[in-house]
Amino acid sequence: MSTRARQYTADVLGREQLSDHLVRVTLGGPGLADFESTGIADEWVGLVVPGQFQSRYYTVRSWAGGQLRIDVVVHEVGLVTEWAAREIVGDTVTITEPKGSFAMPGDAAWLLLVGDLTAMPAMARIAETVGRDGFDPARVRIWAEVPDELGGYLPAGPAVTWLDPPGEGRSGLAEVVEAIDWPAGEGYFWMAGESAQMRAIRKHLMRERQLPPTAYDVMGYWRGVAQRQPRAVDPGPIWRAGKAAGKSDDQIWADFDAAREGHT
Ligand SMILES: Cc1cc2nc3c(=O)[nH]c(=O)nc-3n(C[C@H](O)[C@H](O)[C@H](O)COP(=O)(O)OP(=O)(O)OC[C@H]3O[C@@H](n4cnc5c(N)ncnc54)[C@H](O)[C@@H]3O)c2cc1C
Repeated sequence: MSTRARQYTADVLGREQLSDHLVRVTLGGPGLADFESTGIADEWVGLVVPGQFQSRYYTVRSWAGGQLRIDVVVHEVGLVTEWAAREIVGDTVTITEPKGSFAMPGDAAWLLLVGDLTAMPAMARIAETVGRDGFDPARVRIWAEVPDELGGYLPAGPAVTWLDPPGEGRSGLAEVVEAIDWPAGEGYFWMAGESAQMRAIRKHLMRERQLPPTAYDVMGYWRGVAQRQPRAVDPGPIWRAGKAAGKSDDQIWADFDAAREGHT
C-alpha cells in the first residue's frame, strides 16, 4: 500500500484581490473531481505552484460545487506570495489531500479564536462551521491581528477584537493572549500565526493556565522575517575541509550551521 499523500491537479479559475494583503484564489477543473474535504473546519492543503516543487500550506476557505477557495496572504517575498501577486488565472497547480486539526470538545462552553492574517481563512471557516452546528455565536470570541480593513470577512455573530500588527512581517499576539480575561468554565482555544508567538503561547497555556492538551490547538503557520534568517553558505568547502580534518558528519553539519549563523 502506498503511503504517499494523494495529490490533485487543479486549474486556477479565479483571482480576486480581497484587500491589500489578501488574494482569493479559486481552484477547480476535472483534476479536483475526486477531492474530498475532511469536514474539519481548519483543514489545509499543500499547494505547489507552477515551476516549483516545494509546497506551502493553505487553509481550505471553502469547498463547494467542485470549487476550492484559498485566501493567500501577499507578503514581501516567497514562492506562493509572488505567484499569487501575478495574473494567474489559467495556471495549473498541484494540491495535496487535506488535513485538519480543530477538535473542540462537544461540551465546550466557549470558543476563543486568535490569529493573524494567515489565520483569517481558518477563523472564518471555524466560526461559520460551529455556528451552523448550533453553537451560540455569543460564546465565540475572536482576536484578529491584521494590517487591512477586513470587517466583512468574518461571519457576523462573534465579538471580534481587531488588532494592528506591530510592523510589516511581525506579530505581537503572545502578549495579547497573556492579557486575555478567560471566560468561566471549560472551553476551547484555537490559535495560529507566527511561529515564535505560538511557541510562547503554548508555554503560557501549559504553565500558567495549565490547560490540558485537549483544550487548545496552537499552530505556527509561518516564520517571521524579523527573526534571524540563515546566511546562504555553500556546504561544499566546509564538507571537504571537515573530511580532510577527519571530522564526523555531525561535526561537519554543526560547522555548516555555525557558518550559516555567522559564528565563523
Ligand atoms: C496549516 C497551515 C495553514 C495555513 N493557511 C494559510 C492561509 O490560509 N493563507 C496564508 O496566506 N497562509 C497560510 N499559511 C501560512 C503559509 O503557509 C506561509 O506563510 C508560507 O510560508 C507562505 O509561503 P510563501 O511561498 O509565500 O513564502 P515562503 O517562501 O515560505 O517564505 C519566504 C519568506 O517570507 C516570510 N513569510 C512567510 N509567510 C509570511 C507571512 N504571512 N507574512 C510575512 N512574512 C512571511 C518567511 O519568513 C520567509 O522569510 C498556513 C500555514 C499552515 C502551516
